[in-house]
Amino acid sequence: MLDKKTKQEIKILREGGQILGSILRTVATSAKSGMTGIELDKKAEEMIIKAGGKPSFKGYQGFPNTLCISVNQTVVHGIPSDKPFEEGDLVGFDIGMEYKGMHTDTAMTVPIGKVSSEAEKLLKITKQSLEVGISQVKPGNFIGDIGKAIEKFIKPYGYGIVRDLAGHGVGRSIHEEPVVPNYNPKNKIAKMFEGMVIAIEPMIIVSGNHRVTTGPNKWDVNAVDNSLTAHFEHSVAVTKDGPLILTE
Ligand code: MG
Repeated sequence: MLDKKTKQEIKILREGGQILGSILRTVATSAKSGMTGIELDKKAEEMIIKAGGKPSFKGYQGFPNTLCISVNQTVVHGIPSDKPFEEGDLVGFDIGMEYKGMHTDTAMTVPIGKVSSEAEKLLKITKQSLEVGISQVKPGNFIGDIGKAIEKFIKPYGYGIVRDLAGHGVGRSIHEEPVVPNYNPKNKIAKMFEGMVIAIEPMIIVSGNHRVTTGPNKWDVNAVDNSLTAHFEHSVAVTKDGPLILTE
């Protein structure tokens, strides 16, 4: 069943999403060499609670933290650790918040200090691929169009697009239908309509391999070839005028 949000619910989602976007940016851009994921997770949780929200990920299917922090070859679902970030790392921050009963979800990947030019390019292109995906959002287009556009954009760079995980509906809970693939799914999946709310989240692997495997902590999703990865995400509402990015 595809859920339709009312105008009032979208207003709440936008209010919460903007707060969440600002928390994510504050935490992610403060990340420096020598800091730990645990520290930043604590900071993010405090900020969410202060804003009147509740971390969506903490306790979700047993996930222990507020933030997913995914370093280098870990593309998503990383558990914050006490291992300090190092110069040259790429660190992905993914965060969800329940606010006035509605959830939003957003992520970004940031460089720690100076990173390789290859890493810099991966960040730039992955971020752009999210924008390309979002540009497909409008009533009458299909969910499948999003991944199709992302794949078309990513292909010339030779990067791999993770296929085992995807974007998703969001709002009443942190994960709802439909599944929103980041590659061309070769089927339309569902027609977008006004009031649909989805999280779009391309997960990109620099080597061109798309395969991932779960790490020993049962959460970290790692590139099988241990190469660098990046991940960006926004929650987006379908409006009659096109995409409304909720988590900016
Ligand atoms: Mg998500």
